[in-house]
Amino acid sequence: MQITPHIHAVHVDDKAVSHPGGSNNYFVGDPSEGMVIIDTGDHDRQWTGQILKAYEELGHPPITAIAITHGHRDHVGGLDRVFDAVRAPVRCHPKLVERLAAVVGKENVVRLRSNERIRTGGGVSLAAIFTPGHEEDHICYYLARGKVLFTGDTVLGSSSSTVRDLADYMRSLQKLARLRVEVICPAHGPVVPNPRASRLVTWYINHRNQREQQVLATLRKGIGDVDGMVHDIYPRNLKKGLRQSAARNVRTHLAKLVKEGVVEEVPARYRLKKGG
Ligand SMILES: [Zn+2]
Repeated sequence: MQITPHIHAVHVDDKAVSHPGGSNNYFVGDPSEGMVIIDTGDHDRQWTGQILKAYEELGHPPITAIAITHGHRDHVGGLDRVFDAVRAPVRCHPKLVERLAAVVGKENVVRLRSNERIRTGGGVSLAAIFTPGHEEDHICYYLARGKVLFTGDTVLGSSSSTVRDLADYMRSLQKLARLRVEVICPAHGPVVPNPRASRLVTWYINHRNQREQQVLATLRKGIGDVDGMVHDIYPRNLKKGLRQSAARNVRTHLAKLVKEGVVEEVPARYRLKKGG
């Protein structure tokens, strides 16, 4: 599917891995001059098969790089097959180099520098924007031509993302908010065109800030346990799976607030040991 003259998307309905709105890989550049592939999908023949079919349909363009957004399985699991087909240097965050080198060989993985530009064909280049938070090795890619932001798992098309380190994540979102964006190409969910695209990063920031205020409000009420907080903040009739992710989310916020010195964790309960 062509998104702009320089972007072709491969949309995968990965029911097995179940991401709301499916998953996407991208070919960026000019098919006759050179293209970059963003991410390689999961270790799943159907998925990599679809990427390689798109490669064929584009006429086997010279691939200048395989650019990785982060080291989660659904982004690097297909690396061995895609690399075998296109034989292009793999570019990724320095923290991911060793792991990917074990898959394709040390000589084929080149660490990216923050803000480095990866040349594609057609006179366009992709800037590597280091965006830790969802994962410490996360990179978004920015295509100035057409103001397109490839957000990986940092900003998704139709849901909010999971976060490992919320303080890092918020800083990364602030960084993205400073870019002029007209199209967001996420790793999961639909491509987001304007006018929603130019507001989406800010919406993500506001949404998290709002949640933080809610967590602080429950603490002010004297609610100090995660279950109690979830009960207070979220609707009462949450399904079990959603309740678990709500609890995870609240814990992420608490960890950030502890790190910032706003909140402290206190061991408050005692019980007899077995046989005591
Ligand atoms: Zn993912």
